[in-house]
Amino acid sequence: MLKVTRHSDESRPTVLVIDDSVDVHRLLTVKLRNEDIDLAHAHDGIEGIDAARRTHPAAILLDMDMPGLDGLGVIRRLKDDDTTQHIPIIVLSSMRRPEDKVAAFELGASDYITKPFDLTELRVRLRATLKMHHLLQLLAQRAQVDGLTGLWNRSFFDERWTQEHARCQRHGHPLSVAILDIDHFKRVNDTKGHPVGDAVLAGVAKILRRELRQSDSACRYGGEEFVFIMPDTSASEALNLCERVRASIESAKHPGAEGIAVTVSIGVAGCAGACPNSAQDWLAAADRNLYAAKNAGRNRSISNDLPIVDPLVKAAG
Ligand code: GH3
Ligand code: MG
Ligand code: MG
Repeated sequence: MLKVTRHSDESRPTVLVIDDSVDVHRLLTVKLRNEDIDLAHAHDGIEGIDAARRTHPAAILLDMDMPGLDGLGVIRRLKDDDTTQHIPIIVLSSMRRPEDKVAAFELGASDYITKPFDLTELRVRLRATLKMHHLLQLLAQRAQVDGLTGLWNRSFFDERWTQEHARCQRHGHPLSVAILDIDHFKRVNDTKGHPVGDAVLAGVAKILRRELRQSDSACRYGGEEFVFIMPDTSASEALNLCERVRASIESAKHPGAEGIAVTVSIGVAGCAGACPNSAQDWLAAADRNLYAAKNAGRNRSISNDLPIVDPLVKAAG
């Protein structure tokens, strides 16, 4: 059974100790109690891997010499699994031979401390590992955030849309996607200047953040186009939401852009259950609706329900 030594703050990183020695668990619980971490405990390799998958610890302190699956076997399995491969592993081992250390590092261990360990050294090495892990996470997150608007960027969208589409196909949950494009945005730049154009983009992003739910992902697709994914939302519910967004943008004051109407057109495609369309076809359907909205005079949202009848099948029939 996995035991977690909880202190107070839920946001603190969890460090998982995998060691067959009860004494090591006891010692670490006492000696690391003033660190800003929670400790989780596993007493063999299999239990440790299971705990790592379930709790996603910020770091693992791993014994090498354990009955059953040993430390090297644990590292190998953790590094083979997408969900655990990024967790830094600090090896705690009485094996002092360079080849043992090399084997652990080659499999992907982050650090290696020989037993009996000096607790001050363990503490500083653990802190350094946790800091590095935190910075790497921030970096990975920042690579998916758009610098101007603070929304997710296209790379994030591509990933999330693929995931949500697969989830919809697997479980048959409703799902909708929308593409929003600012109307005649070139005019804003041409008459008010690029910085005002940038401020309008940031203002539109702010409205999206305000109007959409926590579970919706708003992303900047590129230029003056935004996309949002609305899980568990049918096409008609998505249309209501998009109309609210559209009306908010139309009535908002955009500093610097006085005298120019800032409006948007939105194309939506949604499905009430498992959808036969591919992720790309689905997005293309939303894009067609966006262009229909532009052609119908702009400042409007158009939505349709998928699955749309495949035109080739229709033509053949
Ligand atoms: P439509 O209603 O058909 O969408 O017309 P539009 O003028 O919005 O479309 P068009 O594609 O002709 O122009 C988009 C403009 O968006 C051109 C480009 O300079 C501007 N733009 C793209 N990215 C940015 C940005 O980051 N900042 C600013 N200020 N302008 C941008
Ligand atoms: Mg455009
Ligand atoms: Mg535009």
